[in-house]
Order: sequence, then structure tokens, then C-alpha cells
Amino acid sequence: MEWLKEALFVREMARKNNEFFGECLPMIASENILSPLCQEMLITDFHGRYAEGTPGNRYYQGCKYFDEVESKAIELAKKLFDCKYADVRPTSGTVANMAIFKAFASPGDNVTVLDTADGAHISFGKWGAAGLRGLNLHIYPFDEEKMNIDVDGAIKLIRQVEPKLALFGQSVFLFPTPLKELAEVAHEVGAKVIYDAAHVLGLIAGGKFQQPLKEGADVMTGSTHKTLPGPQGGVILADKTKEEEKEMKYLDWAVFPGVTSSYHLHHVAAKAIAFAEHLQFGKEYAEQIVKNAKKLAETLYNLGFDVLGKDYGFTESHQVLFRVGKEKGKEAAELLEEGGIIANMNMVPGDEHPLRPSGIRLGVQELTRLGMKEEEMEEVAKFFKRILIDREEPSKVRKDVVEFKKNYRKIHYCFYEGRDPYEFIELIKI
Ligand SMILES: *Cc1c(COP(=O)(O)O)cnc(C)c1O
Repeated sequence: MEWLKEALFVREMARKNNEFFGECLPMIASENILSPLCQEMLITDFHGRYAEGTPGNRYYQGCKYFDEVESKAIELAKKLFDCKYADVRPTSGTVANMAIFKAFASPGDNVTVLDTADGAHISFGKWGAAGLRGLNLHIYPFDEEKMNIDVDGAIKLIRQVEPKLALFGQSVFLFPTPLKELAEVAHEVGAKVIYDAAHVLGLIAGGKFQQPLKEGADVMTGSTHKTLPGPQGGVILADKTKEEEKEMKYLDWAVFPGVTSSYHLHHVAAKAIAFAEHLQFGKEYAEQIVKNAKKLAETLYNLGFDVLGKDYGFTESHQVLFRVGKEKGKEAAELLEEGGIIANMNMVPGDEHPLRPSGIRLGVQELTRLGMKEEEMEEVAKFFKRILIDREEPSKVRKDVVEFKKNYRKIHYCFYEGRDPYEFIELIKI
């Protein structure tokens, strides 16, 4: 049994991690907690199975129940996003973007995109999936005041480079993209318009952000675990069927065999449940997320923080972004962690080095799912002030954070709500 100790060490770290996140305020904008029905799917037999292909069209036997599950996931995704095409197989948002690049572009093609420093995700960058596909990136100008794409500059760029793909969507994403006008120009020059909704997918589905597929996006990709609170995974959505547009077939093949083999069937099952839950609760959840983000931003601002987007209502998403002083992002994020708040350092306009940023990015989606509303956001903002402005001893603030968090250990906006999402589920009593 010489290796048992090692196995139990890992288990112990996982248990401690549950306890740790249970006690603190998790505010990383890309994270969330799973509903009990979704969580259950992750330990089913689907986990160990393969289902290459599409429902009813498999390379392996044994898929009869999974075919039902995947078909249901597709049906629910189409309903949730009011569209005609859904692919639930991508194992992450990045994998969904890779499939797009494989289906619709070739090495050397021009694409237009935001800079990662202005909020684009690394999968749209030179060092990520776009670079891997050998795409030629042309960067939209960015309006730092508005924290958004500079529309006139972007139109000029699109006309000038005539990209194969015009890429939109961000990881730092306070305000909707001015998509209608940009998509129109992109289509004029023959580009496909791709909107990466990873962060804001749950808000879009809840009707609280822009509706990309109705504003000119040909295809929308996303992650299923950020504001859409499902299992880790990706999804591809469009409002054209394979029958209506031949190119959608390339997309199908790009996902498999292009960028997946096993596509984590237990996650597909959990996605289906997350879609059903979002159909039921998504509107209310998304609405509260945006209210909370606005309230948090406004309170932080009133307490003396340099919150971005102040002339435009701070935010229309789940995110809040503030500046902490030149290249002080890392230090601030570390202090926050000591004080029981988990957030990430983030580049803000003017920053040059991703490892020495000057901002902090927050997301309120998880706190909202724990039942927090506007008044709790005011309490949360005060913890930030105590740590970063008053410079109180973080460990002292942490004690109060832990005490505060005790009242918010139940999950909301899902079926069978009320369970503690941080509870460590023991299959074996040790
Ligand atoms: C998070 C994110 C992704 C990647 O998603 P994963 O599921 O983590 O691979 C892609 N695009 C954007 C804009 C993101 O924020």
C-alpha cells in the first residue's frame, strides 16, 4: 500500500480546497458553482465512455442512452439561445474556437480581433489557438474611455484587410460589442462574423446582454461554466442549419475529428441539465447578476476605488474592473486572497506587460448564485476598502469575511436549490 498515502494526499488537498472556497468570496469572473443535478452527472458511468460522431451516427456501440442525452442537450441549447444549430461537443471554449478556426479559416488568412491587452481571450491571440492555426491577426483599435472597440477605427480596419473572420467577444467584457454596424461591414467584405460569448453566455441566454445571433454574428462560441453555470465545457451556436448552409458541415467535422475525440460525455449530460435549469431560472439569475455588478462597481467607486467605465454606468455584465496603481495588480490580488477574497490581477488600458498589470477584475456571478443581492454587494465592497484602501491587516479582515460567508453557503437559481455547493462529497468514509 505504499502509494495509498500519495492518493490520500491528493484527496486531502481537494477536501481542503472545498473548505477554502467555501469560506472565502470567490470573485474570479470566469468561475461558478454547480447545481446538485449537474454535479451528479459528473460521477455517472458516462464519464468512462466514448461516443465519437453525432447521435445515431457513431463509431462505437453502447451509445443508446447517451444519444438521447446529446440530442436533448442540443434541443435545449437551441431553445435557450433561440437558434437552429447547436454543437455541445467542444470540451471547452478554447476548443470551440479552435473548431471555428479549423472550419472557416486556413493558415495565413487574415482575421480581425481585439488585442488581448484590451480584453480578448488568449485563444484569439498569437500565442493561443489563433496563432496555432497560423492566422494573421489584425488588431481593432480600442476606445479606453468607453472600454469598447473603436467603431470607426474597426470599420476602417475591416475594409482595409478584408478578413476571412471578424472575431468579437472578450474576457474583460464590461459593455456589449457594437456588433450590428461591425457585422454589416464585415459581411460586405465577405467575412464570417464570430462572437465569442464565453464569459457572457449566461447573460445572453437570460436576455440581459446583447443578442449576437440576432445582431449579425454568424456563429457564437462559448464556455458552459462561467455566467452559464454548467460543467466545464464549450458550445457552438448558429442560426443556420447544416442543410441551409454547406459550410456548417465543415464546422461539424471540425469539432470531430478536428479538435475532439472523446468529448467528456458526463459533461455533456451536465450541460443538458444546466441548459434546462437556465431555461427555468436564467432570466432571474442574469438580471440579479447585472444588478449586483452595477451595485458593487458603484459602491467601490463611492468608497474611493478607480473603477473603470464610470461615465457609462461602470458595467452591463457580471464584471467590474478597477485600477490599483501602476503595476500593483499582483500585490493587490495577493492581499485580497489573504483577506479571503479570490480575484485576479488584470491588464487595464495603458498596461504593457501581462505579468505586471495595474488592475483587478471581479465577477459577481458566483456570489449571486449564493443568494447575494445589492445590499450584500455593499458589504462586499467594504471588505475591499478595508484591505486595499485602509490597509487593515488582511488576516483580520479574513475573519470577518469567513463569518459573513457562513450565511451564503446555499446554491440558488437551480432545481433542488439550497444544497451547500462547497460540501466535499465522500464516496468512501475514511
Ligand atoms: C474563458 C474564455 C474562453 C476559453 O474558455 P475555456 O472554456 O476556458 O477554454 C474563450 N474565450 C473567451 C472570451 C473567454 O473569456
